[in-house]
Amino acid sequence: MAKPTPAPTTAPASPRRTCIGCRRVAGSGEMIRISLSDGRLAVGPGPGRGAWLCRDAPDCVERALRRGALGRALRVEVAPEALEALRTCVGGAPSGGGGAEVCEDGGSGRIAGSPRNKEEGP
Ligand SMILES: [Zn+2]
Repeated sequence: MAKPTPAPTTAPASPRRTCIGCRRVAGSGEMIRISLSDGRLAVGPGPGRGAWLCRDAPDCVERALRRGALGRALRVEVAPEALEALRTCVGGAPSGGGGAEVCEDGGSGRIAGSPRNKEEGP
């Protein structure tokens, strides 16, 4: 008798992503996805390849940009302006920047309100 089922490669229980900045591996919930859409970097789900970065981690953005990891991950050449926009967006830009088109998506990775209903009484 031949074995009917080939041994599957060990698959992780949940999808794991690797941050292109610090190489940390975490669930997609802890990361933001960067994709290239129409020549612009977009944050959140999108078509094509995606690169992942730790959420709320400007350091990771910096590292990724400095090493050119983003272009490598997406397998495209990313325009400097797009990188700058991403840095501004993800790196916690001061409000009123107005040039971060990558933020149009709404961040998608944002946690919608963590309830804090702690009643403080004397
Ligand atoms: Zn990271």
